[in-house]
Amino acid sequence: MQIVILNNGVEMPILGFGVWQIPDADECEQSVYEALKAGYRLIDTAAAYVNEEAVGRAIKRSGLPREELFITTKLWVQDAGYERTKKAFAKSLERLQLDYLDLYLIHQPFGDIYGSWRAMEELYREGKIRAIGVSNFEPGRLVDLILHNEITPAVNQIETHPFFQQVECAQVMKEYNVQLESWGPLAQGKNNIFQNEVLITLAEKHHKSVAQVILRWLTQRGVVAIPKSTHKDRIIENFNIFDFELTQEDMDTIATLDTKKSLFLSKNDPEVVKQFANWKLDI
Ligand code: NDP
Repeated sequence: MQIVILNNGVEMPILGFGVWQIPDADECEQSVYEALKAGYRLIDTAAAYVNEEAVGRAIKRSGLPREELFITTKLWVQDAGYERTKKAFAKSLERLQLDYLDLYLIHQPFGDIYGSWRAMEELYREGKIRAIGVSNFEPGRLVDLILHNEITPAVNQIETHPFFQQVECAQVMKEYNVQLESWGPLAQGKNNIFQNEVLITLAEKHHKSVAQVILRWLTQRGVVAIPKSTHKDRIIENFNIFDFELTQEDMDTIATLDTKKSLFLSKNDPEVVKQFANWKLDI
């Protein structure tokens, strides 16, 4: 497995497995188990996905040594703030049946994230988290957090796929040595991504699938990708991307698909901010 080295020296697999929208506990456990069997070592969950317990069970069932795994979870908006973050972190660890985490992310840039960051810096220094980071931070929010705190986030996990390539954001992150991690690498299938002619042509050229071309494109850019699937054949397919290489011309062709726009919710829209503030979960 190829890795990236984070700004604190920690090694992170460049390809992982995401588990958003697998609410059924048995299905989630089985999918993570299949992913670990297929060779994935990075698993991306979140308190808000309400499936940390299933992920924890799959990890146990895999029998893999803890040090081979890279487990990420995230702090939800309602738990922003110093005290709440400490409690939420402890609960996540318990649900995952782990005694440390590889990466803990602030899930959304809302609420008392500075309080959260101080708590996360402490947990990091105590050795309970190997790396701390953020998610859904646009460049301005990210730079503000960096400039007003001691520890620079190791990772920013943001929507990144062929239709929203995040070239400008990636440049800012490079300047501060923050690793870009793509969520929604396959655009959740939106915009007919799997029927896109440019991507189909490249897939045929390399005797690979459209999903494999996209994941290869991301990882060749140095972006960590965490595709989700509940189908064993796709879980395996999405992992088999290291036996071919896209040429510079292929990469340039994919670059033309960039619309520079999100396919999902804008985190700058006041209505969206309100929606997230009211999104209370029983976690
Ligand atoms: P993805 O871009 O990974 O797309 C998942 C969809 O693509 C599913 O419908 C899946 O269907 C389908 N799919 C997967 N592989 C293939 C394939 N080879 N061929 C055809 N279809 C395929 O979307 P996600 O939103 O799940 O993003 C990935 C992960 O990123 C999440 O699971 C989560 O961990 C993280 N994430 C983080 C967010 C954040 O705010 N930080 C927001 C969103 C996601 P099926 O399951 O039926 O195979």
